[in-house]
Amino acid sequence: MTCATCGTPHNPDKCNGHAKSTGKQCTAWPIKGGRVCIKHGGKAGQVRAAAEKRIQEAEAVKAVVTFGLSREVDPRDALLEEVHRTAGAVAWLHEQVQALRTEDVVWGVTEEVTKDAGEFPGVDTTRAAKVNVWVELWQRERLHLVKVCKEAIGSGLEERRVRLAEQQGAMLAGVIKAILGDLDLTPEQQTTAARVVPFRLRSVASGAAA
Ligand SMILES: [Zn+2]
Ligand SMILES: [Zn+2]
Repeated sequence: MTCATCGTPHNPDKCNGHAKSTGKQCTAWPIKGGRVCIKHGGKAGQVRAAAEKRIQEAEAVKAVVTFGLSREVDPRDALLEEVHRTAGAVAWLHEQVQALRTEDVVWGVTEEVTKDAGEFPGVDTTRAAKVNVWVELWQRERLHLVKVCKEAIGSGLEERRVRLAEQQGAMLAGVIKAILGDLDLTPEQQTTAARVVPFRLRSVASGAAA
């Protein structure tokens, strides 16, 4: 694009101002996130505020890409939605972990060997320290939640709004748990619910955005 002032195209990486001596585009670097250097207004409050906003927006877009979120909505809305559904999944998984017997949290059967010969026939069971799948999922989601919250706040969203989305997500998981409790499910149905609910919680926002 040819500049209307100097008649030549500008280098998008350099300051958008014009050098007084040549009348051509300024050769200085613009301030971070801005389009002009400090000599060409980069020190002004509103210019710096706009630059800061641009940096935050870029952060939000980067986070959305990193987390594989929907790019159809505003990146900050996408991050808030991710906070909401991740908080829901974390709360749900926490319930599953709390319901585990202590020995099931870290110990699992890794090998069963049937012996029909020898002095003591029977089944030899090997139990090894292996983190339970619910604990693993819960830890993974918690880590993800911390990351998403950090990115959301880093992209300029108010911490209050991020925490609210987190609380609402957790509340949703609580409501589902209460409903399932009222339904008097069989053990098989409970197992299915434990598996299906976090999946559904995760798809709430992506379904709405699609
Ligand atoms: Zn120009
Ligand atoms: Zn300049």
